[in-house]
Amino acid sequence: MRYIMLGKTGLEVSEVGFGAIPIIRLSATEAVMVLRRAFDHGITLFDTANMYLDSEEKIGLAFNGIRSRIVLATKTFKRDRAGAEADIDLSLRRLRTDHIDLLQIHQLSLTRDYEAVTGPDGAMEAVFRAKQDGKIRCIGVTSHSIEMAVKLLETGLFSTVQFPLNFIESKAVEELHPLARQKEMGILAMKPFGGGLLDRADLCFKYLRQFPDVIPLPGFDAVGQVDQVVAIYESENVVSPEALAAMEGYRTELGQQFCRRCEYCQPCEHGVMITPAMGYPIIARRMSDAKAAGFAKKMMESVRNCVECGECEERCPYGLPIPEMLKRHLALYEQHARGI
Ligand code: SF4
Ligand code: SF4
Repeated sequence: MRYIMLGKTGLEVSEVGFGAIPIIRLSATEAVMVLRRAFDHGITLFDTANMYLDSEEKIGLAFNGIRSRIVLATKTFKRDRAGAEADIDLSLRRLRTDHIDLLQIHQLSLTRDYEAVTGPDGAMEAVFRAKQDGKIRCIGVTSHSIEMAVKLLETGLFSTVQFPLNFIESKAVEELHPLARQKEMGILAMKPFGGGLLDRADLCFKYLRQFPDVIPLPGFDAVGQVDQVVAIYESENVVSPEALAAMEGYRTELGQQFCRRCEYCQPCEHGVMITPAMGYPIIARRMSDAKAAGFAKKMMESVRNCVECGECEERCPYGLPIPEMLKRHLALYEQHARGI
């Protein structure tokens, strides 16, 4: 395992991190085993979020007593000062620590969210205060919108940026990473498996290892998966013509029919939570049917308000047939909910 400095944060991290959404579907004992396996293999960066159910608690349990040997990254989705303040304190308690190494503003893609976060009484006030008080060391941001991410980098408010990167979502390579490097920011890559769409770890990491200063955050829910990815990192990276052809095969097969979570389609004036509902099949793949239906209840129930006006479709830069896809996702959710 190689270790690199995360931009100019002063944080040294393993070349591949651990994305901690999938551990929510494990028991505490299983989650601790998977997390400790990653640590034993040399992974030192663990990335979670306040909103990932009990993920922070499981990380706190796994690393109790060896806190100083890992780098903890978490996120707040709150846009207001009071909410972010409460999230930070809750994350500290759950993670069993007195400081968070990297606190990220979670999924900042919309202008209205950016204005709320950076405006009076916005979340950034709480974050700056927490940094002054020593509760957090560095401030980062995560986004799914390339235009917003570029804008966020220009503000100079953040030391790291986390954006999707995989061989079917590679915009960041040309449109975001050069600027982040110029500003000496740490670069984190979410969704190395395309948010669950890519099932060949060898191809995913062959692609990602071409960018040695970008830290991917794969999610793991089994020790075997950790072993597999670490083994890939221990081998030489050869991107053969066959590998390139296989990647191209996935691109052709998936075409444009998947949601990149850029949120251009929102808001829906009928209250449909479009982006999260577009991702329901991926959520469902990550947890049991009953858990997925419970977790996604609010977003999926909002789909019932869709009047198929088509306005969101016009705004989607990828031309997705949104109402039709939402209908399919609602049917899947109903099927899962009946099993509760
Ligand atoms: S098609 Fe449905 S989801 Fe899209 S804007 Fe209209 S009501 Fe909202
Ligand atoms: S449906 Fe289209 S516009 Fe909406 S988040 Fe997904 S990719 Fe973006």
